[in-house]
Amino acid sequence: MTESNNKTGDTISISSIIQAYRCPRRYYFSRHDPVISSGKYTICKQVSLCKDQTPDEDQLWEEICLIDPTVKPDLREYLSRCLEIMAHTPVVKYTDSDIQVHSVRYGIYGLVDKLDSSSNTISIIRSSGAPAYGCWSDDRVRLAACILCLKESTGIDIVGGNIEYIPDGIVRYCEPQPRDRRRLLQALHMAQKVMNGNLLDKPVNAPCKKCLYVNQCNPDKPKTLSSILFKK
Ligand code: SF4
Repeated sequence: MTESNNKTGDTISISSIIQAYRCPRRYYFSRHDPVISSGKYTICKQVSLCKDQTPDEDQLWEEICLIDPTVKPDLREYLSRCLEIMAHTPVVKYTDSDIQVHSVRYGIYGLVDKLDSSSNTISIIRSSGAPAYGCWSDDRVRLAACILCLKESTGIDIVGGNIEYIPDGIVRYCEPQPRDRRRLLQALHMAQKVMNGNLLDKPVNAPCKKCLYVNQCNPDKPKTLSSILFKK
């Protein structure tokens, strides 16, 4: 699922919450950056939305280029690989896609990628690979947010949903646990603090190795006494 990177009024997108969950400092540095599509999500989404297990690749590529004119031609190969692997995965059926959901209570909004109204089953689509077991923790938090918003927006009350890891052709059903909802609330509070201009501390498991903001962030700089005493 994708949403805008920013706060709208007093609400925050689920994608922003997930960014704050991964690293609130990185979210701070990137929060005003334009959202640039990698193209991979658009491809994975169109592959997942195909109701036919072996769709026409040329036609699908044309649709993808129409949806996202910035998609790079060299991603055509990525589409081929996704289609090849998804040809062995049963199609996850749906009746609705891109369902806008929100929670007034928590000030969150987002999109649910797929909903099958006959079974009240939702799916979120990922352009990343799957872990060896289960689902990535940020996907569990994302799903928890979707379920919370879906209930408030539509009254549909479910305990879990599918996470489709398209490049691996893997669909995993996941029921978020209390720790996932706790992480969701913590990430929401962090995102709210960042949106109010606070630069938060580096989390223990921050993904620094692949971070574009490492020079601005200086994550390993020792803290001064005043920064600890007057921390917001
Ligand atoms: S360098 Fe590390 S702590 Fe700093 S913003 Fe990046 S991921 Fe976060």
